[in-house]
Amino acid sequence: MIYQGVLKKMMTENAAEILYYLDMNTDFINMNQLINKEITINFVTYECLNCHLEKKIYRQGFCKSCFFEIPSAADWIMKPELSKAHLGIEDRDLAYEQAVQLKPHIVYLANSSNVKVGVTRKQQVPTRWIDQGAHEAIEILEAPNRYLAGITEVALKDYVADKTNWRKMLKNDIEDVDLVAWRDKLKAFIPEEAKEYFIDDNVETHINFPVVKYPEKPKSLNLIKTPKYTGKLVGIKGQYLIFEDETVFNVRSNEGLVVSIEV
Ligand SMILES: [Zn+2]
Repeated sequence: MIYQGVLKKMMTENAAEILYYLDMNTDFINMNQLINKEITINFVTYECLNCHLEKKIYRQGFCKSCFFEIPSAADWIMKPELSKAHLGIEDRDLAYEQAVQLKPHIVYLANSSNVKVGVTRKQQVPTRWIDQGAHEAIEILEAPNRYLAGITEVALKDYVADKTNWRKMLKNDIEDVDLVAWRDKLKAFIPEEAKEYFIDDNVETHINFPVVKYPEKPKSLNLIKTPKYTGKLVGIKGQYLIFEDETVFNVRSNEGLVVSIEV
């Protein structure tokens, strides 16, 4: 069986063990069913997720011109504290920015390799945590807009990491940390204007990934340099496919690549 399509991050479903789906244009692959099977991934070409032209991907699945023009790739996406829709100020497209930014946002603590702080839209919980490969996470603040969540994240970054170590996450070199204790410790550092949105009464969410064997020394597959790869899939964690030979492939960071997958 050969599937072909442009890579977009895998869709997930929260279950006792996370379920992963890959949308390949005409087919929808249940990736969990491929675990313990040999698959081949071939790089075919590029396809920008916005303009759909065959142009080299610059960032986030977009070609360079789309990345610098479209509202969904503006700076406030990666830096929520730059959000300005709550002031009625336009960045690239005010209607789009109001629709996205003026919705409830969550500041959370997630542990994938270490405890980190992050921001996501409320409707992206727990998807965001699954995508990061977090085995545990907790919401610590629910703000009415992206800006307040963003300034809270910036303030807390002085006391907790905001990055994860993907190798450590994939090796499953992890610890069970008391996130409630972390939340209570960080409360004092939330900015004044966001303090009223602190959540003091919820519990950790635990996430289980479908992995048969974790790699000891994960090596990342670069499909541009190695346009054909064959290996036995032994697990999926975050947005990474994990193979028996310790090769790992980050689907999300390869968005916009057209690939064929042979099963
Ligand atoms: Zn484009």
